[in-house]
Amino acid sequence: MIFDLTFVSHLFPTHQGMDQDGAIVDRVYTDSRETVTNGLFVPIIGDRFNGHDFILQVVEQGAVAALWQNDQPVPDDVPNDFPLFFVDDTLHALQQLAQAYRDDIDPTVIGITGSNGKTTTKELIGTSLSQFFRVTKTEGNLNNLIGMPLSILTMPRDTDVLVLEMGMNQFGEIERLSTIAKPDIAVITNIGESHIEYLGSREGIAKAKSEIVAGMPDDGFLIIDGDEPLLDSQLVRQMIRCGFESGLDYVVSNVVQHDMNTTFRVNGSDVSIPLLGRHQAKNSAYAIAAADILKVPQRDMIQTLADLTLPSMRFEHIQSSSGAVLINDAYNASATSMKASIDVVKQMAYSNKVLVLGDIFELGEHRVTEHQKVGTVIDQSISALITIGDASQHIHEGLTASFSGKAHHVQTIDEAKGILEPWLQPDTVMLFKASRGMTLETLIDALD
Ligand code: ATP
Ligand code: MG
Repeated sequence: MIFDLTFVSHLFPTHQGMDQDGAIVDRVYTDSRETVTNGLFVPIIGDRFNGHDFILQVVEQGAVAALWQNDQPVPDDVPNDFPLFFVDDTLHALQQLAQAYRDDIDPTVIGITGSNGKTTTKELIGTSLSQFFRVTKTEGNLNNLIGMPLSILTMPRDTDVLVLEMGMNQFGEIERLSTIAKPDIAVITNIGESHIEYLGSREGIAKAKSEIVAGMPDDGFLIIDGDEPLLDSQLVRQMIRCGFESGLDYVVSNVVQHDMNTTFRVNGSDVSIPLLGRHQAKNSAYAIAAADILKVPQRDMIQTLADLTLPSMRFEHIQSSSGAVLINDAYNASATSMKASIDVVKQMAYSNKVLVLGDIFELGEHRVTEHQKVGTVIDQSISALITIGDASQHIHEGLTASFSGKAHHVQTIDEAKGILEPWLQPDTVMLFKASRGMTLETLIDALD
């Protein structure tokens, strides 16, 4: 049980059909296709669907109760004894419910935002801290104004630490998420260019991420990317800076990427993590900083990081039948994350390194320059570059002079498949990365 209906009726006093005072709620959900026992259904009005249209279905499936938006007609055949709580706006009500539940349980809340690395850092922090505390963390990537409240509402009542991913694509969203979650510890992983179309500039992005302080208590801790000057200038409170530059609170050095792990030092202590790349070393420093605040002995934390098994992360390795290794990083992309992934591939020990890169969306007027920037990290260590789509052709314009591999630009996944087939051989690694909408995973499936 997370709460009973009296908790809901205190928040939303106008209701019908609540004779079963105190009926138990195990879960709050918005997707009518889920079969949920003891579920409180929250119908949300979206672009394509109106959750209210599915009320009879959820009643039939055994929902305990539902919220109901005042301006929506209640269908006649909804049973009179089915509890409905009337609200002006169901989305806002979901957020109010999450906020009230967070306050009721009052765990230590860790909120994570940033342009790249939110999910990875959330997993690093959540999974490692679960060795020391009862932890609830965001499932997958549920980081928006619907997903984060739902994540809060999944927490068992005995939760000590709640780790939440917070995403956004415009000003005000992180502020709202922070007001709901009131993080005691907040992390800003980095400032990239995602959503620059809506936020204008990197300064704008830094400002939008910095909204995470809005809901923090005065004694809260803010952990930031210490290598990013835009963050340092804007924020107050107890700041903890992590990064590669000397003089920071947590200095990451001696990063060495191996086949299956990355080793490095944090303030002189040796650390190993089962993830690849410099950026993951920095994400681990955030986790070490958070654990220090919670007084986990650093040696225990470092041991836990080394032993982590993380759920199917981005950058998934697929051993194809041809002997080539295909790296599926096609979940999403920004110029920063694309460059980070290319850097990881450059450090790998394969003879042939093939980059298969598609368009990065939502860049607005920065569309050309951001794609060109990706090219600037592609050097002689790369054997071939295949770009797919439209904007990705500009990657070729930024290529370093040392790059001497094969280069192709194609419009379709089918054309790319033809070019890639001859590369399917042992001792070859292929990186697939693009914005989600490019559906590069279909190309991976076709080649596997
Ligand atoms: P989304 O906005 O899609 O939820 P996210 O912020 O949760 O993304 P992750 O899914 O953790 O990010 O990582 C996406 C990619 O970002 C990784 O594959 C990696 O290439 C890159 N990345 C991870 N951490 C960092 C970092 N600290 N700095 C730069 N790039 C990073
Ligand atoms: Mg994410």
